[in-house]
Amino acid sequence: MRDQEQFLHVLDRDEAERRFRAAIDVTPRGTEHVPVDAALGRVLAADVVSSVDVPSFDRSNVDGFAVVSDSTYGASEEEPRVVRLSGETIHTGVVPSTEIVSGEAISIATGGMMPRGADAVVMVEHADARDGELRIARAVTPGSGVSFAGTDITTGETVLRRGQLLTSRDTGVLAAIGISSVDVWRKPVIAILSTGDEIIEPGGARPAAALFDANRYLLEGLLSRVGAQASDLGILPDDPARLIEAISAAAAGHDLVLTSGGVSTGEADHVRQAVESIGRLVFWRVAVKPGRPVAMGVILKGGAAFVGLPGNPVAVFVTFARVVRPLIACLAGETAAPLVPLPVRATFPYRKRKGRREYVRVALHRAADGVIEAAKHPQDGAGVITSLTETDGLVELLEDTTRIEPGDSVGFLSYAALT
Ligand code: AMP
Ligand code: MG
Repeated sequence: MRDQEQFLHVLDRDEAERRFRAAIDVTPRGTEHVPVDAALGRVLAADVVSSVDVPSFDRSNVDGFAVVSDSTYGASEEEPRVVRLSGETIHTGVVPSTEIVSGEAISIATGGMMPRGADAVVMVEHADARDGELRIARAVTPGSGVSFAGTDITTGETVLRRGQLLTSRDTGVLAAIGISSVDVWRKPVIAILSTGDEIIEPGGARPAAALFDANRYLLEGLLSRVGAQASDLGILPDDPARLIEAISAAAAGHDLVLTSGGVSTGEADHVRQAVESIGRLVFWRVAVKPGRPVAMGVILKGGAAFVGLPGNPVAVFVTFARVVRPLIACLAGETAAPLVPLPVRATFPYRKRKGRREYVRVALHRAADGVIEAAKHPQDGAGVITSLTETDGLVELLEDTTRIEPGDSVGFLSYAALT
């Protein structure tokens, strides 16, 4: 009965976030001011408003000749329009002193500031400069070849919003409006622990029944991409006392303690009990495959959040994307955009249980008719780690779906979108 209550069926972001907010202090941890080149992957703590126009002046988009467009009307290869050509050239970075009137042209470089009077630029390919004259073989209309001031960004415009995780495209925009530093939320600090008597550190010799730890490395990489600071606390044995001690210690000084392994119902699975003895579980088990056993709680001493992920690496990946990612978004102050699955055509049949959300690892290819098809990885075990590297993403099968036939349209989430 108790397990039933803690079984989380729908795991959309809203539902997960509602539960986090009810149970855990999910407010971000204050702000800091960082240079733009250190702001990549950080979450903006305040809207960014531009104090400049971009472009900041009317500029030429092409190498060519600035003109008044009406003096090009009717121009063709056979009957070029001839205008007077100024002896000067407008180079980039220089404010032109010349003013252009109808019947005149002046050479201008890409990025050059438009001279007063001109409203278009004839491309160099469509004109022939000779003896102080320009023969124009193609008519231009007002605005041809010109980017006008403020058409990209206007002074006073909000270009980036509080809560945005900054990408390289965003830092490019910041630089383009002359901003060299921004306010970002402090990174949530997240402890990562692996559990299992059989788990050992990669690099050394491997005893016969041991397994190299993949999960801490997988998680560290995932955390580095979502504005969080990982702190690696190593590997723990399946020993209840050691688990309690290590998880309690980790709770002090971390916003979230993330473990993998030991949350199933086997004899050596003590993580859930350990957390229940020092804190409170919000839920355990989610209706997701792979990755059903996930313990999510709050450790009372210090109030750190806790998520116990399953042991199998593929389950770790899926539950990270569906459970941990939304929690970290809250802790990091991020307004995460909803995931939008893209429609692709399944090449495989699939049977699933109603009421559970399932994720199928698939590789994409283009079929002969041009449609993007998703092929299921041949090995679907949750422990087959290469099924993550030999595929492009996950097909998401919702709770109500029970069967997929080849040819059906299914929703695809790329690994890039998920992480
Ligand atoms: P558990 O949830 O502890 O029962 O683990 C499920 C499976 O995942 C077992 O086969 C474990 O050996 C394996 N496993 C657990 N932790 C790790 C890890 N850190 N890296 C790779 N495999 C793991
Ligand atoms: Mg284990």
